[in-house]
Amino acid sequence: MKPLVAITGASSGIGEASARLLSEQGYPLLLLARRVERLESLNLQNCLCVKVDVRDLESFRSAIKKAEEHYGPVDCLVNNAGIMLLGESKDQDPQEWKEMFDVNLVGLLNGVHLVLDSMTKRSEGTIINVSSIAGRKVFPQHAIYCGTKFAVHAMSDQIRKEASQYNVRVITIAPGYVPTELIEGTRNSNLKANYLKSTEPIRSQGDIESKNIADAILFAYQQPQTVCVREVVMAATRQPD
Ligand code: NDP
Repeated sequence: MKPLVAITGASSGIGEASARLLSEQGYPLLLLARRVERLESLNLQNCLCVKVDVRDLESFRSAIKKAEEHYGPVDCLVNNAGIMLLGESKDQDPQEWKEMFDVNLVGLLNGVHLVLDSMTKRSEGTIINVSSIAGRKVFPQHAIYCGTKFAVHAMSDQIRKEASQYNVRVITIAPGYVPTELIEGTRNSNLKANYLKSTEPIRSQGDIESKNIADAILFAYQQPQTVCVREVVMAATRQPD
């Protein structure tokens, strides 16, 4: 059997598409999210679905332990769970800033913490951090979200350097706009409506979908362990920024 792949935020969007694709490729999976019923409804073979909030290190740890008892050590962690709460800095609730940093950064680091030591001891393994083009460039109403994603890029690169001497890969995948449920997290209805309007041309013509990002994740993962695709920035051709 192929080695175990763990995916956070597999209950929708890019994580769900990655789960479907990796399952088709024969990988046993550990799928994590808060909406466990959505994970279970994917109905994938050799798949353990666990309700985990990535901010909670201990439930994250016990889910990995349980999956490893069934399928062996995690060979690939796709750190995908994330939220985007758009806002103007002058009036956004600081609680939303904290939420974004807690999920997009602390949650991701929890994943790194739980698999990296074992990977370095085994001299193999891959961590794929899903960042964003907003981790490379700033966008209106994205100040804090960009902050979290710039940090994902920075941390991933330094963790990659540290892991390189152990033959362990750290990969950053940075998508542009992809139609998913991500915008639903934004509580300001005007900003949400503007975002939906500005992305409408890409959405209505089906220019890019979660499956395209999953394909990039699979491509990077399936390179030989000695080859690291360090970073992929990909967006719809018609996305100008
Ligand atoms: P979705 O909203 O469709 O998916 C987000 C996933 O993250 C869901 O499965 C959600 O599951 C999970 N999640 C959110 N908070 C938590 C938490 N506290 N604990 C565990 N899981 C959590 O959005 P996308 O698929 O678009 O987002 C996936 C990643 O891609 C994110 O990191 C996002 O920042 C990034 N991205 C997305 C882009 C886009 O345009 N869509 C562009 C660039 C990057 P649940 O609610 O069930 O817990």
